[in-house]
Amino acid sequence: MCKQGWLRTERTVFEKSRQGRRSYSMPILDVPQVDPEDLIPPNLLRQKPADLPELSEPEIVRHFVTLSVTNHHVDRDFYPLGSCTMKYNPKICEFVASFAGFADIHPLLPEELVQGALKLMYELGQSLCEITGMDDCTLSPAAGAHGEFTGMLMIRAYHEAKGRARTKVLIPDSAHGTNPASVTIAGYSSVEIPSDSSGRIDVERLKAYLDEDVAALMVTNPNTLGLFETHIAEIADLVHRVGGLVYMDGANMNALLGISRPGDFGVDLAHLNLHKTFGTPHGGGGPGAGPLVVKKDLSPYLPIPVIVRDGEKYRFDDDRPQSIGRVHGFYGNFLVMVKAYCYILMAGARGLQSMAENAIINANYLLAKLRDYFEVPFDGFCKHEFVLSGRDKAAKGVRTLDVAKRLMDYGFHPPTIYFPLIVEEALMIEPTESETLETLNRFVDAMISISQEIESDPERLKTAPHSTPVGRVDEGLAARRLDVSE
Ligand SMILES: *Cc1c(COP(=O)(O)O)cnc(C)c1O
Repeated sequence: MCKQGWLRTERTVFEKSRQGRRSYSMPILDVPQVDPEDLIPPNLLRQKPADLPELSEPEIVRHFVTLSVTNHHVDRDFYPLGSCTMKYNPKICEFVASFAGFADIHPLLPEELVQGALKLMYELGQSLCEITGMDDCTLSPAAGAHGEFTGMLMIRAYHEAKGRARTKVLIPDSAHGTNPASVTIAGYSSVEIPSDSSGRIDVERLKAYLDEDVAALMVTNPNTLGLFETHIAEIADLVHRVGGLVYMDGANMNALLGISRPGDFGVDLAHLNLHKTFGTPHGGGGPGAGPLVVKKDLSPYLPIPVIVRDGEKYRFDDDRPQSIGRVHGFYGNFLVMVKAYCYILMAGARGLQSMAENAIINANYLLAKLRDYFEVPFDGFCKHEFVLSGRDKAAKGVRTLDVAKRLMDYGFHPPTIYFPLIVEEALMIEPTESETLETLNRFVDAMISISQEIESDPERLKTAPHSTPVGRVDEGLAARRLDVSE
């Protein structure tokens, strides 16, 4: 090992273009090479080699393949987890994100060496603004909830700059749990507003909550019942009249792509989940990205750095006196951005629109097929997802949890259950756009067969799952005494 030298790492990059295939060498980074013995005190250095298991390649491959098929994932079969958008993510996005020029760059490299990465981030931000009808964007937040929190800090900065001390954020009772959490952490009190009998914000009752103390309304559209808030423009207008802002939880933007833009129906700021709508798989805790798109009145408060374009050059702008500051150590989860950029370019405008259309058609197809077998508390045309209730199954002693567990025996991941909270025994189903008619029909058959089992053999459901490596676990205990050693 060379001592104290500088090593120039080079990587050969292959690129396929219309002109054919070419390769070039790309300098990655000048890294100082230091002998560990110069850095670590001798008494802390290992004296003999670590006792690592000696395994052959086939054993290791089999171990990981077994693990990967023991777990259920969207590459294996249908995963209709409502609100979470577990759709198939094209492998080309992973492939592009693995390119050395993206994967091996370091966040502290000087701007002139990462112009391509900056350009990608800038153009992704522009695309997200175009898709949502907004003016400006930050890509820094690392998740949806982080985007919400960043949005709340910006709302606070906006009101403070106007000399207003507002204290409340209104949130519909069907909202995702992260909404009140983000509001509370940002120092606002969250005020729950009721839904009407159609499952949407009750406009008349909303009026009673609107006063000069309202900093914002935080709305999810389509909401967590999978319903479009049909009065959203009027609602936004009412909030604006008392000087409040409208924040949209856009985690589930795949229902709106190319059809409707939050910026056009009165939203002032919104986050998107790149790990739901734009080509990154999720689950297991990330990494994700929750970019925030805003109207121009809010631009001054965006977190730093903001990526700006000067002619043909791109740079980070930190000189923004009204900014809320940094919300991420560096610039966010860059490779998730690469995947989103690839996804958007691959699909194109028409492709994105057809994703939303297919997500909506698939959800409505399932709803139509299942309506006769399960109760639909808020019925009607849905968007990308819909919510059933298992409360009428109580007569047979069966709960929604049992239906979900039994679905695993049919080879499917269960839908989201017991959310949203306004539906008793909720089963929230989101098929996504990436499923075929054959898969949807297999799921329908499974659900119908389960509904028949509820009548004929409820015990079979209550003891499910019967086919998985692990049966029912005590989830409360597992959360408190986490053991991941097996
Ligand atoms: C997933 C989701 C969130 C939170 O996103 P995270 O990336 O998990 O923090 C917020 N709101 C809705 C409606 C969601 O579906």
